[in-house]
Amino acid sequence: MNKKKLFSQLPSVEEMLNNEKILNLLEEYPRSLIVDNIRKSIDNIRKRIISLKDDEINSFYIDYDKLIGNIIENSTNTYSLSLQKVINATGVVIHTNLGRSLLSDSIKEEVWETASRYSNLEYDLELGERGSRYSHLEDIIKKITGAESVLVVNNNAAAVLLVLSTLAKEKEVIVSRGELVEVGGSFRIPRVMEESGAILREVGATNKTHIKDYEEAINENTAALLKVHTSNYRILGFTKTVDIDELSKMGKKYNLPVIEDLGSGLFIDISKYRLNYEPTVLDSLKKGADIVTFSGDKILGGPQAGIIIGKKEYIEKMKKNQLTRALRVDKLTIAALEATFRLYLDEKKAIKEIPTLRMLTYTMEELDEKAEKLYKMIESENLDINLNLEEGYSQVGGGSMPLENIKTKVITIIPKKISVSELERRLRLCENHIIARVYDNKYVLDVRTIFEEQFETIVKEIVNSVK
Ligand SMILES: *Cc1c(COP(=O)(O)O)cnc(C)c1O
Repeated sequence: MNKKKLFSQLPSVEEMLNNEKILNLLEEYPRSLIVDNIRKSIDNIRKRIISLKDDEINSFYIDYDKLIGNIIENSTNTYSLSLQKVINATGVVIHTNLGRSLLSDSIKEEVWETASRYSNLEYDLELGERGSRYSHLEDIIKKITGAESVLVVNNNAAAVLLVLSTLAKEKEVIVSRGELVEVGGSFRIPRVMEESGAILREVGATNKTHIKDYEEAINENTAALLKVHTSNYRILGFTKTVDIDELSKMGKKYNLPVIEDLGSGLFIDISKYRLNYEPTVLDSLKKGADIVTFSGDKILGGPQAGIIIGKKEYIEKMKKNQLTRALRVDKLTIAALEATFRLYLDEKKAIKEIPTLRMLTYTMEELDEKAEKLYKMIESENLDINLNLEEGYSQVGGGSMPLENIKTKVITIIPKKISVSELERRLRLCENHIIARVYDNKYVLDVRTIFEEQFETIVKEIVNSVK
């Protein structure tokens, strides 16, 4: 045998395309992609032949089954979406890197139907003429918040941008220095303000701002007072912030709109569910804020969106702002948001069916039961690992409630044959992409953010990984 002979045994692309298995593959995947993968696979063998040493040539042969297997595997891989499902075992409920809030299963049919068929997105069925895409959200959001008016844009950053651009372009907006924070991953209040054309007027010190600081800063060029919920950090100790009701009174006195950027859109009193009290959207309105903005995909538990609610006179102006066209939401968002808000008509239903709320409000007994089940499933595999069921802490995430460490139950694994970091890497890269934390040199699975239907998959992947 010599190399020349081996080269002559290489199949041609044409031959491969006539192989029965490849013909089956052609029914599912685009021809161009398969041809590319055939070329690459043949080329790899060609390179392998070139690099063969003299004493290897005789024992070398072209494994056609393996070649075809490679082509099939590569074609499937290159065709799968880059954006794909993962299993979140981190215990961070609103995980910005893993897609923030999850939509409720109970709304998927309606959302899909609106998206895959024509709809009355911008059509008034009563009048038979052009309607507004925002009208679909107006009734339900007004009903749940009691607000006079509503507008929904791409995300909360866009909401703040639009509010400031509409109400305060080339004018001053007064904000406490302690609230000039970076929130929700690179959203910096001073930068957003700059983009909106509003002029930032900082008042107070980092740890303390008094109502008189705002009052002293008001002048003929002041357009609004802004309060930002510092959702991802807290100044502890010797502090003073001005509450929204105090600020609202000041706004009324000087006839200035008071804007509150709440970040997370909370609609239920979570102190009822063993979490620390956090101000809700309704609190803000009740305390007199003229405009409130919040995210759709933080605690609200809906799709990415920025929701602006409040006084009609201001929101009407925003609707006429040209920016609104650039920040507008898609029908998928509108359908998902309307359906999510509808769940809030019944708090029990919202807690049960919105995954974000469900995961945040598990009782310790429920977590115990879940953890016990997963633990037993892994234990019964008799693997070469140290397996434990322990107490741990989950996080709300999404820049919400940073100091809130919620007690949870975790499964910890120390593999004996490979390192903990190798286990983490294998499970992250496996077909089902399990994302978990490594803490205290243990692999930690927090059952809070894992769905029970994922247990079997997790066990299977652990079995494959610890070998
Ligand atoms: C998260 C957050 C934002 C940004 O919201 P996005 O929906 O991520 O654009 C703005 N303000 C506050 C206070 C936030 O917490």
